[in-house]
Amino acid sequence: MSAPREPAIAVIGAGMSGICMAITLLRAGFRDVTIFEKSDRFGGTWRENTYPGLTCDVPSRFYQFRFAKNPDWSRFFAPGAEIEEYFTGVAREYGLAGRTRFGAEVCGAEFVDGRWTVTTAAGARERYDFVLCATGILHHPRTPDLPGLDDFAGAAFHSARWDHGVELTGKRVGVLGTGSTGVQIVSDLAGKAGRLIMFQRTAQWVAPLPNGRYSRLTRAAHRRFPVLDELGYAVTHRIFEFLMGALTAPGPRRKMVGGLCRANLRTVRDPALRAALTPEYQPMCKRLVISGGFYRAVQRPDVAVVTSAVDHVVPRGVVTADGRVHDLDVLVLATGFDAHAFMRPMGIAGVDGRTLDQVWADGPRAFETVALPGFPNMFLLIGPHSPVGNYPLTLIAETQAEHILGWIRRWCAGEFDTVEPTESATERYYAQLRAALPETVWATGCQSWYLGKDGRPELWPWTPARHRALMQRTPDPANYRFATARG
Ligand code: NAP
Repeated sequence: MSAPREPAIAVIGAGMSGICMAITLLRAGFRDVTIFEKSDRFGGTWRENTYPGLTCDVPSRFYQFRFAKNPDWSRFFAPGAEIEEYFTGVAREYGLAGRTRFGAEVCGAEFVDGRWTVTTAAGARERYDFVLCATGILHHPRTPDLPGLDDFAGAAFHSARWDHGVELTGKRVGVLGTGSTGVQIVSDLAGKAGRLIMFQRTAQWVAPLPNGRYSRLTRAAHRRFPVLDELGYAVTHRIFEFLMGALTAPGPRRKMVGGLCRANLRTVRDPALRAALTPEYQPMCKRLVISGGFYRAVQRPDVAVVTSAVDHVVPRGVVTADGRVHDLDVLVLATGFDAHAFMRPMGIAGVDGRTLDQVWADGPRAFETVALPGFPNMFLLIGPHSPVGNYPLTLIAETQAEHILGWIRRWCAGEFDTVEPTESATERYYAQLRAALPETVWATGCQSWYLGKDGRPELWPWTPARHRALMQRTPDPANYRFATARG
């Protein structure tokens, strides 16, 4: 009997999901695993975002890999630098550094003669049996096309390209954007900047979760008794699964979270400021912002919320639609990301040379979040319509990585040479998904990065438990096209 064959596997991206995928493969005994990373370090979004106040709004003990629990988190919501350190540490512990090509940007992948040819920007071309895309969703900064921005005399930069050489203490700082990022920056800079102005186009609902510090005793207890981490993870998991129900179906849970946000808003004492901060859409329609300190920050005398639209930029500051000039030394663009690019701008060509741009002309889609018809042996992590709304992406990535591992094991057993979902299975899946979307809170009438260009949410419309069950069940062969070299 011949030994099982060993596939050559390319993982694209060394952020959280790429690290998760590569470790899942190594733990299963695979050795021919190459990770391509365009930058010089691990960490993905946690490497790129270094703005002041950056924390994860998912509790630290839940935003970590189940196979690498960290007893030493400093806070309930850990700061970004600590999370980057965690992922880098886990990657190194599992020996990923030796398998990662840093500074190697993949610019193309082409399916030729039953295998993938991966091309890097430096011109290398290599052949792989599987290509696993772990390129993240929020890594293409969206910079507004503001007239005059280039003429600004101070420093202006996107929140994900923070210029740490710029002094903020005592300066006049403007923050454009009121998403999770803008809220975290404003909460942190209030009291440090001399004057802080938040330019708000749309108000946000804010849930007030406090960010407590873990004492030395608690951390020592977690080190000594790992069962505490297991317990903490399990309890948080339960709470999240319960709360996620508020996103995907109307009912009391939605009312409960809404009530919490409304009560938080009532802590703003000035009626005019409170009115300015009151959103005109349902709580959670946009991604819910978690902050225990935001309303306290914007009530400070040295902080202002400007609701008149930003019209243009002049050398001395920002001019709003009401004609006022707001003098600034620094302008931070917390204006979000293009969340619909996924692996692009990589040029990906599947069966018969059909490109990803062609098949995604109407928007990104993937069969059951992980695979694409016409792109055999290519799998995605945190792909289109993954359950991302306020849920820990670490757990989604783990679930998807295990599912992808299952396919690779079947390849090793010789069940097929290539596998891809059929177009008809994908159509059926999307018909169900689209039918479920109107029930979700994201479809209740607001603008957000969740919405695709057809105005529909590009998110998983069911519970995370349903996604997990889908990933864990044996795939129905009727939904896939298998090929072998024998034909
Ligand atoms: P975002 O949620 O897309 O928010 C962008 C903000 O910029 C919005 O307030 C938007 O206003 C505003 N904006 C964009 N273009 C503008 C323009 N031309 N003029 C005026 N305002 C403009 O982006 P984000 O805050 O970076 O957050 C993105 C996602 O990253 C979050 O939803 C979350 O998933 C993730 N994130 C997570 C954490 C965490 O703690 N885990 C922290 C930060 C970010 P409109 O609302 O009017 O469009």
